[in-house]
Amino acid sequence: MPMSAHSPAAIVRVALDVPLDRLFDYIAPVALPTDIGRRVQVPFGTRQLVGVILQITDHSDLPSHRLKSVGAIDRETPPLPGDLLTLLAFCARYYHHPVGEVVLGVLPTSWRQSHVTVARPGYRLTAAGRAVALDTLPTNATVQRQVLQKLQTVEWLSPAHSREISPHAAAALKVLVRRSWVVPCMAPPPHLPAASLAVPLLNADQQQAVAAMLAKPAVFAPWLLHGITGSGKTEVYLRLIDAVVANGGQVLVLAPEINLTPQLESRFRHRFPQLTLVTLHSALTDSERLRAWQAARDGDADIVLGTRLAVFTPMPRLQHIIVDEEHDASYKQQEGLRYSARDVAVFRAKQQNIPVVLGSATPSLESYHNTLTGRYQRVTLGTRAVTNAHLPDVHLIDSRRYRPDHGLSAPLLAALGARLARGEQSLLFLNRRGYAPVLMCRVCGWLSTCSRCSGRLVLHLRQQALCCHHCGHEAHVPAVCPDCGKGDLVAVGHGTQRIEERLAEHFPAARILRIDRDSTRRKHAMGELLARAHRQEVDILVGTQMLAKGHDFDNLTLVGVIDPDGALYSADFRAAERLFAQLMQVAGRAGRREIRGEVLIQTAFPGHPLYLALRRHDYTAFAEALLAEREQTGFPPFCHQALLRAEAHQRDKVLDFLMVAADTARCFGGPVTVYDPVVATMQRIAGKERAQLLVQSDSRRALHALLGRWMVALRALNSRRVRWSLDVDPLEW
Ligand SMILES: [Zn+2]
Ligand SMILES: [Zn+2]
Repeated sequence: MPMSAHSPAAIVRVALDVPLDRLFDYIAPVALPTDIGRRVQVPFGTRQLVGVILQITDHSDLPSHRLKSVGAIDRETPPLPGDLLTLLAFCARYYHHPVGEVVLGVLPTSWRQSHVTVARPGYRLTAAGRAVALDTLPTNATVQRQVLQKLQTVEWLSPAHSREISPHAAAALKVLVRRSWVVPCMAPPPHLPAASLAVPLLNADQQQAVAAMLAKPAVFAPWLLHGITGSGKTEVYLRLIDAVVANGGQVLVLAPEINLTPQLESRFRHRFPQLTLVTLHSALTDSERLRAWQAARDGDADIVLGTRLAVFTPMPRLQHIIVDEEHDASYKQQEGLRYSARDVAVFRAKQQNIPVVLGSATPSLESYHNTLTGRYQRVTLGTRAVTNAHLPDVHLIDSRRYRPDHGLSAPLLAALGARLARGEQSLLFLNRRGYAPVLMCRVCGWLSTCSRCSGRLVLHLRQQALCCHHCGHEAHVPAVCPDCGKGDLVAVGHGTQRIEERLAEHFPAARILRIDRDSTRRKHAMGELLARAHRQEVDILVGTQMLAKGHDFDNLTLVGVIDPDGALYSADFRAAERLFAQLMQVAGRAGRREIRGEVLIQTAFPGHPLYLALRRHDYTAFAEALLAEREQTGFPPFCHQALLRAEAHQRDKVLDFLMVAADTARCFGGPVTVYDPVVATMQRIAGKERAQLLVQSDSRRALHALLGRWMVALRALNSRRVRWSLDVDPLEW
């Protein structure tokens, strides 16, 4: 940018990745309105930081001698678009989080670094380009001819390949793009069998859902797509995507977990080989992530599929947002900016005036409640999409009557044996990895506890280690009791490894596969294990909640659930909601095809209303009972909450800080309840004592007014020994 002699110097206000809730003023020799959203390098203390220009003004509250000058303003790369900046400003306000950390925190790491190599796309031929006769090109268009020639032999020309053809290839490609013979695309088109392009027919429920949701394409409309497991929600998403992209739009699709994205990705790619799809999740390298993000920002990508952070992807032609498995707790970030990607998605849709679809078999009570109050519209898919596929029969095994032998009861073993005899697959679900949840001394009662946390050390026999699932601490398995020195140590309870071992003893000929965080640690391991199950190389799958979500196995007819009772009497008021969702999900794995599936739940409380609702597959009755309970007790969604979390090495310090915080909040008054500080459920993690303070109100506005003033006051306390953070709409306690 040439410096103009007569433009007066301006003040740019810059967002920086520092924990202070303000912008920083710098002098810029020239600043244009189009510089808002641009990357800038600035001196900060003794460091040079990369920030983003959010405002341009002609005055600063700082005296002019204290103002420093900006380093370089990056005018090579496009600025962050205004709608994204608005969204980020909203998040900073709503979650009461420093604006600079919000803005810089959602950007790809490589974008934030000062030296960025911009990823260039590759190219492919269009149908028109394929039809061009090379001898009709002007004689001097040598490079264009060479490029076209090359493209006729390859499906995709990578940036490196085009440079090999000629140093002028980039210029030639620009001309070819302008003539619509070539289009930029980020990756080679995948090879697809022709048969996969067949589009399945929709059943009546699906047709109605698609028609309803496409009726008003260009206005804000939040939809809850409530579809039982196996009802074909994904097919509905595909129809929506098809319609939106045909209309020139981009679609943002959020999935809760990285393990679920490959499955969705391959389905999307098979259906839309002609479209550009990028994925955004934490397993990508920095440069992969930057490339995908740029393709979205530049409008090259038609579909963006990603996990929660992808909700902040700039998309100039965004016309539709889909949030799959909207109830899933992993949409909530549990550190730093503690946002809910689902809630941000709804706000973004509102801001851009577009529809948003929240899909689930077991909607969150918040979303379901929003359909009752008319804030969201609901469409229901009540039948399974595959003809003759029925919901599985759910049976409860009373574990007081049928005492489980090492975790497995006789009826469950008999059912497994029957599946093995028929050559069908079974799945055992147990939400506890490792061999046993604790090691105990039979003489003195010593328990394996973590020295740094208030949790137990889990026995992992295969690794010969005691592991803390909270802080990652690992210790050797002691040969004798560390307390009394006797050798009578026993493993108490069951984890996935132990169940796997017991199954092998009962069914020596069965092929058993365990899927949990330990067995899938290696990159691509999850995909490889699932592929074995799909190839029928597995008879019994044993796994944690990783297996409960989204994965379909055609030949799986039995699901066994071991010990789910813990959540029934948890102190967390959301535990029952989560357990119900999880069991509905895992039950949904059984009988996706013509053979009717069976679900066996081993429980000591077979009369509990949660299990009775599960037997009837009755989400609605269960949700309404829970809502009635929440309304009576004044829990969300009937109130709004925020949790101030604090931690320090000494418990006194944490509680003192929270007492002061509580007193401060009470001084502000208003219709907000300020509770007393309490220690956290996990009192100590990695040597830090943890406690928290809940504030809640019936009025969101009143709550947020208090939070705003409160944060200013707490930041001014400058309590260095205590680390604290605010969690607005907390999900976990
Ligand atoms: Zn002992
Ligand atoms: Zn620990």
